Amino acid sequence: MNTGAFSYQQAIRRAILDLAQNGLHSVVYPSGHKDTIEVAVRRAVLTGVNQTAAKLQLARMDELGCDLVETTAHAGARPSHAVWQGRIFSRSGTSRKYPDFATSTGYGTGAGLCGWNCRHNFYPYFEGLNKRAYTGQQLKDFEKKEISYKGKDYTRYEASQIQREMERRIRKSKREYLALDAAGLDTSQTAATLAKRRQALKDFLKETGLRQDNFREQVAGFGKSAAAKARAEFKSRTLTNASGKLIIIVQKSNIKGPPNGITQKNNAKGGIDRNYYGFDGKQIKQISNNDHGHKAESHFGKHGEHAHDYIYDEKGNLTGRPSRNLTGAEREENLDIL
Ligand SMILES: [Zn+2]
Ligand SMILES: [Zn+2]
Repeated sequence: MNTGAFSYQQAIRRAILDLAQNGLHSVVYPSGHKDTIEVAVRRAVLTGVNQTAAKLQLARMDELGCDLVETTAHAGARPSHAVWQGRIFSRSGTSRKYPDFATSTGYGTGAGLCGWNCRHNFYPYFEGLNKRAYTGQQLKDFEKKEISYKGKDYTRYEASQIQREMERRIRKSKREYLALDAAGLDTSQTAATLAKRRQALKDFLKETGLRQDNFREQVAGFGKSAAAKARAEFKSRTLTNASGKLIIIVQKSNIKGPPNGITQKNNAKGGIDRNYYGFDGKQIKQISNNDHGHKAESHFGKHGEHAHDYIYDEKGNLTGRPSRNLTGAEREENLDIL
């Protein structure tokens, strides 16, 4: 879409960079709701354009003396908008046949028609002259669960919400990366998380056939050079194990790590240790491809390869890490180092 002078996206980008350079990173609304500037500016620009169009439409209708309006409809509308999309309303509220426009659609409020992020619009409707733009069946079809992802079916709206969440996570990783980088701290784990989240979105889009919205993945300050740096870091600091799972190479291992992730560290006594983390980021086990210098563990496997399970008390303190032989599945997954 184009506003003539420059595109929405250029307008938004310019505004965000302006604000970021002045040190503004988030916007708190009177309701207490907080948005990052990327989200707030995008919303303000899109909403402003839509509201201007709506006001012009109303002025035109006043000239025509037209009381009835028909709202537009599209697949993927949020549920609170789906209820009034593609329907006829009376602006004066005096029609016996059609409900009041403003109270039904919330026109003029942030949450309503032409409000925040709303892509709906409306047109004059002349009873007896116009045909309805949408049939009841078409309106129903807009709410079909027609998108499947990982074996579940979603409406276009639901799928778009999943995509928005994934985009939010990508932006969060980028922001985190920039903050760590600016502080001169290690960014490798964030770079890996970012790559993982990007891949997840890519897989999602491929499976659902939905369109990528590059713009929603952007973060002020995270430009081409930061992206290239993060990618290079990710490449040099990661590998995949025999079953294709992502492994992050670390210099120091920690009892806390990437949630559901695996890290790898060269043991000082030779050999390789792989650290497995649970959903909460706490280490659950370690797999080593030799006895890492422990005599007592040299009898495991063929040349000392073994696992440690990490045991915690109810307060979450580590109480032990007993060793044992690798299971068949663990062997298979780590064949690349055994
Ligand atoms: Zn809407
Ligand atoms: Zn050991």
